[in-house]
Amino acid sequence: MVYDCIIIGGGVAGLQAAIQLGRYQHKVLVLDDGKGRSSMCHCYHNLLGWPDGVSGEKLRSLGKEHALRLGVEFEEERVETVEGLDGVFGVKTAKSHEFFGRKLLLATGIKDNLPLFDGLLPCLGKSIFVCPDCDGYEILDKPALVIGSGNAGASMALTLTYWTKELTFINHGKGEIDADLKDKLGGKGIRIISDGISKIHTDRSDFLGVTLFSGEYIECCFAFLAFGGNKPNTNLAFQLGVELEENKHILVDPRTKMTSMENVWAAGDIIVHSEQAAIAMGDGIQAAIWIHKSLLES
Ligand SMILES: Cc1cc2nc3c(=O)[nH]c(=O)nc-3n(C[C@H](O)[C@H](O)[C@H](O)COP(=O)(O)OP(=O)(O)OC[C@H]3O[C@@H](n4cnc5c(N)ncnc54)[C@H](O)[C@@H]3O)c2cc1C
Repeated sequence: MVYDCIIIGGGVAGLQAAIQLGRYQHKVLVLDDGKGRSSMCHCYHNLLGWPDGVSGEKLRSLGKEHALRLGVEFEEERVETVEGLDGVFGVKTAKSHEFFGRKLLLATGIKDNLPLFDGLLPCLGKSIFVCPDCDGYEILDKPALVIGSGNAGASMALTLTYWTKELTFINHGKGEIDADLKDKLGGKGIRIISDGISKIHTDRSDFLGVTLFSGEYIECCFAFLAFGGNKPNTNLAFQLGVELEENKHILVDPRTKMTSMENVWAAGDIIVHSEQAAIAMGDGIQAAIWIHKSLLES
């Protein structure tokens, strides 16, 4: 059995592409291991139609249900290898299953560099955030901590001054902070703490504060994380030999979302964009439209 398209990654971008391809009635398989950002974010705040927010889990289950209705198939499997064979792609999973497709869509997202604090994960998207464009509004005129490392954390703190003046930057990762950034933070009255965090305090999805190694307790209801070093999940792209951008995201044609390799497309956070759910959905639709055009021609 050869699928018209195999989508690797069933997050926001992959699901939206699956829905579009399903509506063309193509034979589509989505392979997903459910460990991406849309599984981690417990509340998307800036999505049309969801003024009170929606969890990634809910968005994903609605998207899957929608795609299933259109005949799209799903397997909860991690893809380990992918190779171009004679006119088709062979995709092997960690469970040693093999699938074949005429077209491939890579929608594997990125891996966030997050600290390993107990209690952190349930707060993500609710009271602990990573993206100022997504969630800066959530801390409007409220006190917030920036927990991070070096310049990445310092720059996040400066960006967040657009929304609130009540910021404290904890340089937990102990990275270097450039002198000019330090001056700017000082100018904005932002306290920089060089001590690390021994424990974060949470109650389910509520962030309550941190205890520093010195023993100082800092009470606060919101935090942003900024350690730098997020990594695009490009190992499959690397196996195929598709061209990457300097920052390791996949390079695509801006109009079609096709990669440098014929019959391979990419969508979502894995390509360069502003890393938001609505944009990932748009990428998915755009890629699917051009995959459809290409299927008509072949
Ligand atoms: C804490 C947090 C809060 C956020 N808040 C917002 C917000 O409020 N608003 C907003 O617009 N955006 C927000 N974002 C960003 C948003 O989640 C991403 O832009 C979006 O998830 C990108 O979709 P994607 O499909 O590219 O990637 P993902 O949603 O990460 O999906 C990629 C999928 O591919 C799977 N995968 C990866 N490799 C493999 C493999 N080898 N085999 C099989 N499956 C694989 C992953 O498990 C995952 O399910 C937030 C992100 C985080 C982390």
